[in-house]
Amino acid sequence: MLIALVAAGTVSAAARDIVPLPKPRPSAAPGPVERAATPAEDESAPDAESPEAAPAAAAEAPAAKPPSACRAALTEAIAIAPSIPDITGPGGCGGTDLVRLEAVVLPDGARVAVSPAATVRCGMARALADWVRADIAPLAASLGSRAAALDNFDAYECRGRNRQRGAKLSEHGRANAIDLRGFKLADGRMISLTDREAPRQVRETVMQSVCGRFTTVLGPGSDGYHEDHIHLDLAERRGGYRMCQWALYEGLPPIAPAMPLPRPDEAPPREVAADDDRAPQTVAPSRPEAAEPAPAEAAETEQAEPAPLPPPKPAIRAKPKAAAKPAANKPIDLTPSTSPATKPPARSKPAQPPT
Ligand SMILES: [Zn+2]
Repeated sequence: MLIALVAAGTVSAAARDIVPLPKPRPSAAPGPVERAATPAEDESAPDAESPEAAPAAAAEAPAAKPPSACRAALTEAIAIAPSIPDITGPGGCGGTDLVRLEAVVLPDGARVAVSPAATVRCGMARALADWVRADIAPLAASLGSRAAALDNFDAYECRGRNRQRGAKLSEHGRANAIDLRGFKLADGRMISLTDREAPRQVRETVMQSVCGRFTTVLGPGSDGYHEDHIHLDLAERRGGYRMCQWALYEGLPPIAPAMPLPRPDEAPPREVAADDDRAPQTVAPSRPEAAEPAPAEAAETEQAEPAPLPPPKPAIRAKPKAAAKPAANKPIDLTPSTSPATKPPARSKPAQPPT
């Protein structure tokens, strides 16, 4: 290195002896004037500068980098997705060829907003756009409306899977994933993909479409981390293995959600409260519509069931197909002893949910 510098110095010193002025640097630096003004003494400085100047110029002109095939194809006829700079984060986070996916443009020119805009790789943006254009738009039309927005829960985020510390890097950390809660129709309806009461047919249609397009789909019943959103990513696995784990639950969840609130400390003794319950204006906590059935249920369950309910761990079902039928309406079963026992169908794979 030193030798190289010295040699360079010598050469340019020699050059200076022959040529009266240092040759102006052609493209790079903005300072031919300053340079001319600097005394001949410094020629070491220009020599040291020039290597810096070159990369700087290269960095200033990322436009020179030809757009990827994906970028070139992701025109504004398909999506509003401006390119954003590459991200280099800790622990392998980040990505290249990134875009900020703001909206998908339908064939008729209408836009489906991505709300909020999602930072994803171009390939992911393209997959999402294709999906919305080809599958979601017709689905919305079948519901008598049109798609207005995707409810983006999370896209790029430098983190481990399932936000577990020390876990393998999530595809979110590679800008290769998105978590969606649902989509909004132009008439204001919100289609929540994990809502048990949302039309099953709609959820099933969406499930089939995403499982055909994305290599990882995780939803309710997959691993307990995806009960309120659907994770989609384009992870590549050996042998082209794909993961499609989304159980289409219906009816009430396996545990009773509407348990009465615990009695406040300052509540009157039991008998009095019971009398109150029968009185027209009940103090029924926060659920006026449930006022009638609630006390009855409450009384029953409280007597029948001294032990607390099992934790709200969702029944695990590896394959949505398997879950398709039997899942149905069992859940209302309030008898405490049976529900924990009937559960655990052995899990088919330990799975590594790349959420
Ligand atoms: Zn996710």
